[in-house]
Amino acid sequence: MLVVQKYGGTSVATTEKIISIAKRILAIRNKGHKVVVVVSAIGHTTDDLLALANNVNSQPSGREISMLLSTGEQVSVALLAMALHELGCPAISFTGMQVGIVTNAAYTNAKILRINTGRIRKELSKGKVVIVAGFQGVNLRNDITTLGRGGSNLTAVGLAAVLKAQACEMNTDVDGVYTADPRIVPGAKKLDRISYEEMLELYSLGVQVLQPRSVQFAQKYNVPIHVRSSFSQKDGTLITKEVKTMEKEVISGVTATKNEAKICIRGVPDRPGIAARIFNDIARKNINVDMIVQNVGEDGLADISFTIIAVDLIRTMETVEKIRRELKAEKVEADSDIAKISVVGVGMRSHSGVAAKMFRTLAQSRVNIEMISTSEIKISCLVRKHLADKAVRAIHRSFKLGKK
Ligand code: ADP
Ligand code: ASP
Ligand code: MG
Repeated sequence: MLVVQKYGGTSVATTEKIISIAKRILAIRNKGHKVVVVVSAIGHTTDDLLALANNVNSQPSGREISMLLSTGEQVSVALLAMALHELGCPAISFTGMQVGIVTNAAYTNAKILRINTGRIRKELSKGKVVIVAGFQGVNLRNDITTLGRGGSNLTAVGLAAVLKAQACEMNTDVDGVYTADPRIVPGAKKLDRISYEEMLELYSLGVQVLQPRSVQFAQKYNVPIHVRSSFSQKDGTLITKEVKTMEKEVISGVTATKNEAKICIRGVPDRPGIAARIFNDIARKNINVDMIVQNVGEDGLADISFTIIAVDLIRTMETVEKIRRELKAEKVEADSDIAKISVVGVGMRSHSGVAAKMFRTLAQSRVNIEMISTSEIKISCLVRKHLADKAVRAIHRSFKLGKK
């Protein structure tokens, strides 16, 4: 059996942990399995490297960022290989470039175009554990690229798909996907199983266990993902395509996203083409817009509010300010003191009253709702940031998501 295992930054945070993971890998290999391991950079290395970059340049180029960040994973793969050698286990480490993880040119948010499996298969057939640096690839010009934050998951799913692995294990510091972030809701319950679709919604909402692109990739190639603890043998959460029994639970999880900001353009002319103009310019800058609300005011003027990721705030404000001048809109306001609370579940397709219950719970907790957005399997409400955790706990309780 061929297994792809990914170990996140927290799982390789210390050399002791690297050694214990090496032992875990060896045990699997000794059962006769072929093992491909993907590793993230040690602990907070990626953040530390980013801080270094920002010390020398306020807007470092994507090419150099990827050059810098990719070193983090290079350290951990080498150390893991050495730790395996120490245990007498044949192992070999590779950078993304070496195995041939070919990506497009979007330096810091690259998409995988193809993965060459030749070298990996060759080393596996020699009985070696193959260790691949997560989060990195190479573009067609032979420059190093990175796959976006949390991108090691994408590397793992990509490898599992092309190698047709039986399993893609995401080993992390939690033992599965929970109904809410266990750090915020102590009574949160581990889910045995969840659909790709729910996982995708959950991610975009702050359940940062798995990067969404990795889940989309897994969904496309139908690779089941097993999220589990690096430090225990217990089964974690299986992420698969939707099965009938999943609908029994109306809600799978509740989340709070605190990294967004709200922009409001006031006094915009209320005529066709204006929204298209605004969001076109923003999209052209590769800025993702999340919630959008338009209120029609007086005298043919409207207010348009929308949310974006807070790190894009300055760039977005520049773009929006330019549009404001051109459209002669009244003013632009930015607000980072917000959080988005969401409930997610495929069961919403067949159950009604979820939104009403969520709004009622927020009202009872005296949390004001500033914006609302919904999808088929999700309802989100924008609230003041300092009320976010309280809101999550209240909703978690009212939907009875906790441990029995
Ligand atoms: P890794 O370093 O293994 O990539 P991450 O830190 O990226 O791990 O992701 C795991 C973290 O996701 C956990 O430590 C946990 O705090 C967080 N998390 C947030 N929401 C949830 C949830 N609903 N279920 C499980 N973990 C969650
Ligand atoms: N080291 C990278 C990050 O911190 C990639 C990963 O951990 O998956 O985002
Ligand atoms: Mg991660």
